[in-house]
Amino acid sequence: MTSKTAAAAVRATVYGYPRQGPDRELKKAVEGYWKGRVTAGALHRTTAELRAATWRDLAAAGLHEVPTGDFSYYDHVLDTSVMVGAIPARHRAALAADPLDGYFAMARGTQDAAPLEMTKWFDTNYHYLVPELGPDTVFAADPAKQLGELQEALALGLAARPVLVGPVTYLLLAKPAPGAPAGFDPLTLLDRLLPVYAEVLAALRAAGAEWVQLDEPALVQDRTPAELNAAARAYRDLGALTNRPKLLVASYFDRLGEALPVLAKAPVDGLALDFTGPAANLDDLAAVGGLPGKRLVAGVVDGRNIWINDLTASLTTLATLLGLAGHVDVAASSSLLHVPLDAAAERDIDPRIARWLAFARQKTTEIATLARGLGHGTAAIAAELAVNRADLASRAGSALTRDPAVRARTAAVTPADARRSLPYPERTVAQRARLGLPPLPTTTIGSFPQTTELRTARADLRAGRIDADTYERRVEAEIREVVAFQEKAGLDVLVHGEPERDDMVAYFAERLTGYLATRHGWVQSYGTRYVRPPVLAGDVSRPEPMTVRWTTHAQSLTARPVKGMLTGPVTMLAWSFVRDDQPRAETARQVALALRDEVADLEAAGTAVIQVDEPALRETLPLRAATRPGYLAWATEAFRLTTGGVRPDTQIHTHMCYAEFGDILQAIDDLDADVISLEAARSHMRVADELAGAGYPREVGPGVYDIHSPRVPAADETAALLRRALEAVPAERLWVNPDCGLKTRAWPEVRASLEHLVTAARTIREEL
Ligand code: GLN
Ligand code: ZN
Repeated sequence: MTSKTAAAAVRATVYGYPRQGPDRELKKAVEGYWKGRVTAGALHRTTAELRAATWRDLAAAGLHEVPTGDFSYYDHVLDTSVMVGAIPARHRAALAADPLDGYFAMARGTQDAAPLEMTKWFDTNYHYLVPELGPDTVFAADPAKQLGELQEALALGLAARPVLVGPVTYLLLAKPAPGAPAGFDPLTLLDRLLPVYAEVLAALRAAGAEWVQLDEPALVQDRTPAELNAAARAYRDLGALTNRPKLLVASYFDRLGEALPVLAKAPVDGLALDFTGPAANLDDLAAVGGLPGKRLVAGVVDGRNIWINDLTASLTTLATLLGLAGHVDVAASSSLLHVPLDAAAERDIDPRIARWLAFARQKTTEIATLARGLGHGTAAIAAELAVNRADLASRAGSALTRDPAVRARTAAVTPADARRSLPYPERTVAQRARLGLPPLPTTTIGSFPQTTELRTARADLRAGRIDADTYERRVEAEIREVVAFQEKAGLDVLVHGEPERDDMVAYFAERLTGYLATRHGWVQSYGTRYVRPPVLAGDVSRPEPMTVRWTTHAQSLTARPVKGMLTGPVTMLAWSFVRDDQPRAETARQVALALRDEVADLEAAGTAVIQVDEPALRETLPLRAATRPGYLAWATEAFRLTTGGVRPDTQIHTHMCYAEFGDILQAIDDLDADVISLEAARSHMRVADELAGAGYPREVGPGVYDIHSPRVPAADETAALLRRALEAVPAERLWVNPDCGLKTRAWPEVRASLEHLVTAARTIREEL
């Protein structure tokens, strides 16, 4: 290979970029529009400027091809629904009256029309709006948004590549529309959908697109032969179109597996594959004979994490790939939507650690550097490689990430540490004797409404307007109110209400060593909601108790048991950016031991019931079944390590927030908690049936109050749900509680709903 021709050939690109702007301008403009403070015209102008600024930045950083169409006012899957005309009947009038308001109505709902359902985008914390499709769905192409963005980028003189959700993934992400016949499979609409994609592709080509990217991340999940067949058909048909741009089919988040031979054989012009993590795509690609004559876009820079790339290792991968494809380009493993914008904006982070961080801007530069290195030879990037090697070496040898005491402690963990001293049937006898609760005991999941006064007090503390003492007295006053209310309402196991936490992960992250907070590290969670995940950078320990004072304060106010409340180790990892220089299992163990100290201190302070929340246990479940057992083994061990050290008569609760448990029933059992509370109100107690069906032997609190709605359920409605739960769970193992924490609800709803919940429990007790 002569470096000259290769130099012209290797391109750097990304599939998508953070949308929010350096100062979250998108959020401000969209929310301003909702409140009537920003006109549609101003919203359009602001976002057009944001897009142009992003593309200019990308080009200036050395990308040869910028993505278009990845921008969104709310969500790119919703944009796809609009692009293919899949508008639920209840939103059609609004969309016809005003496309922008109709679009937001689908996203957020209106007085009379419920929004589309929202769910997590694969194993990320990004949420998309679920397409609703039925046998009556009539697709119609509406390429306006895609065309508009392409034209904007082309007008800047840039090479632009529209990025679309691919047709197979779109259908696999959809759910049957309300009223569709039972068992309706959206994938059966493929033949109807493909002509619409053909029309969009033709329009993009006419507008000047040389390449179009079709994202098919659903193909990295385990797929049935029928689904793989659908993928083969889709790309056979789209590939056979004569009036089309070149097609790049993109996959990310895992290996393509069985879908790789399908796509490699398809008459498309290129594939994008994820080469981070286990090297399976590399081996699989060699096994199918590579992609001769085709374009391979190699995702070698991690699009999901915030650490600098090992450029030398990536170049080795890229060099191997040169022999496997007609042409190799360089990219991040996925859209950069999942990382914050700019590590250089983090001025508070220790500069010795900051040099290890790469957010979207830094990753873009890494990609451009790798493309240059691959094209021109490593000598062309000698300076960058030297800096990168020095940065990596400073991290590998850093005392900042290594605490010998923590390492000695994790190394000394034995299986006995992760095991309660007695099995559940014996523990429950001791716990019943100690707690003396009535049958069907009532409790809540932890948080009570986060009032404006609390938020103001926290902001005042941060800004130095009040001192720590004043703030703490404010929190204690709140705890007094929460405890007094629960006593009066007649709840059996009380909570302190979590008024000291604005976030269930950040609160603990701020109090554990090894975690860093960012100031501007916003990542889109859904719509205009952004989160700032903490960064788990070093070894974790707990210098001092984190919650004990609040729990003991609450306990000092009542004779009833107050439940201690902690966030579990799996969730502490799942909602953070986790270090990539050691296995997650090891990091989870460190977090578990730190939390174990807190559990021990709570117990020593007299706390008889301790809840360890693990709402994220299921969402970080690996996308492919083959890798799940390994994950579940360390995840459940971390939970047991957190909780395994307590006395038999200390009752351990856990909580999870969703109604789909089919695939982790065994793991739930493996947690060996004494009591589990789950979401169940909306799904009519289905989880109770599932747990019972799987022979779950311990106590269960299926949620009987749907806290995601402002509705106050009547006592007899709650009682009916309890009767339903009793069909699955025997009375001596049934708890009565809401679906989740109450922090997003308002006091009046919470008061009435919990009073009804207690009334319902009392009614059912009489019937026993
Ligand atoms: N204890 C937490 C709360 O009540 C649990 C929240 C959650 O599971 N997401 O807010
Ligand atoms: Zn929850």
